[in-house]
Amino acid sequence: MTIASNLSAVHERIARAAKRAARDADDIALMAVSKTQPAAKIIEAYEAGQRLFGENRVQEFSEKVGALANLRDADFHMIGHLQSNKAPKAAEVFHAVDSLDSAKLAERLNAAAEKLGKTLDVLIEINVGGEEAKSGLAHNSPQLESIFAGAPTWTHLRIRGLMTVPPFTEDPEGARSYFRQLRELRDRLAARNLPGLTLDVLSMGMSHDFEVAIEEGSTCVRIGTAIFGDRPKP
Ligand SMILES: *Cc1c(COP(=O)(O)O)cnc(C)c1O
Repeated sequence: MTIASNLSAVHERIARAAKRAARDADDIALMAVSKTQPAAKIIEAYEAGQRLFGENRVQEFSEKVGALANLRDADFHMIGHLQSNKAPKAAEVFHAVDSLDSAKLAERLNAAAEKLGKTLDVLIEINVGGEEAKSGLAHNSPQLESIFAGAPTWTHLRIRGLMTVPPFTEDPEGARSYFRQLRELRDRLAARNLPGLTLDVLSMGMSHDFEVAIEEGSTCVRIGTAIFGDRPKP
């Protein structure tokens, strides 16, 4: 299987899931998660038409970014946990951060983006399963309210929605209630008309559960192994 054929197979599955949910497949972005993959594979995906990519480490992506300089209209998002001391570098190499989990990080990203003369798209990461080992904020976390309070002042960030990685279950149906919780949280927050942010994006669904996520309202699925194959073991 090639990356191009994997991409078209995933697009077809997205289209079928969208149809089942009476949704427009164009409302669902496909992010190719290229963490651990060499630049050559990212270029191969780009040549097959892919533009949106997700990476989970600032250091790893910084080492690849030079080799990707020709992919002018590619869109690289940070989707992994980001320490606030790495905010300046992240703001430099990425177009968006989909894993915001504190007001302090937002503050740092905003300052870094301002210096670079750019605006970063941002998603807030929610830990829907409340798992210790996962990053992201609880739905009732005081940090979440701090982010909402700061949002109008961060003029170089565009907070656009929520992201989650649910607890892993063998059966993708096990993720459904978590995806639904993220959508319901988004709906509750959107109803508050919070100033300085929009909540249109729901980034949820990975290789083994993205169809369920689409049925529950995902607007961005993050797919690694179904596009690039198994990741090399560290
Ligand atoms: C690795 C990763 C993915 C992709 O996982 P696959 O199972 O390979 O599709 C999606 N989201 C995040 C946050 C990841 O770290």
